[in-house]
Amino acid sequence: MFSLCVYCGSRNGDDPRYAEAARALGTALGEGGHRLVYGGGQAGLMGAVADATLAAGGQVLGVIPRRLVARELGHRGIQELRVVDTMHERKLQMAQAADAFVALPGGLGTLEELFEAWTWQQLGYHARPIGLLDAAGFYRPLLEMLAHTRDAGFVDAAQVNRLRVDTDARRLLQALREEAVAGPAGKDFNPV
Ligand code: AMP
Repeated sequence: MFSLCVYCGSRNGDDPRYAEAARALGTALGEGGHRLVYGGGQAGLMGAVADATLAAGGQVLGVIPRRLVARELGHRGIQELRVVDTMHERKLQMAQAADAFVALPGGLGTLEELFEAWTWQQLGYHARPIGLLDAAGFYRPLLEMLAHTRDAGFVDAAQVNRLRVDTDARRLLQALREEAVAGPAGKDFNPV
């Protein structure tokens, strides 16, 4: 089963199109018979993507640190909720369970997780595809910053171009699945 790790806000943000994008991605996952891997919360876009995946018949794995269960409302309706001791354990388990990664709009946690997955890819710790669901142009300023970082000589254009950016959830999911299938076999993941 194809598993997609989704990073997204524990809040909804102030534009309803952010939650629409989260629901669209969850629906596409569920209808495709895929599995959502995410942070295990019920709040914000995290809850929206999980609920939409479940409603469309998909599988959901959530991984949440013990101390965040109350704050992020650990989701009791999903098939598997792993409560772990640390944030690092959460991120490792999420990454190990995933065939590809996507970031939806979100805050500091989302940005941190996106950049961790992307820098691990840059270092060769994994070769899984990474996508950005650019709902309502949320990520435009970040993409400008990344182009600036490339132009200033701090990152290769090839690495920047490995990030698949799309405004359409279904199309992005399809592209990531194709790239994951074409990539190296196995789920070896060893960020040490
Ligand atoms: P946010 O985008 O800030 O709403 O957070 C989205 C998710 O990222 C939440 O589940 C947070 O618990 C998680 N998060 C927050 N800080 C970190 C961090 N330093 N590393 C990994 N995940 C984090």
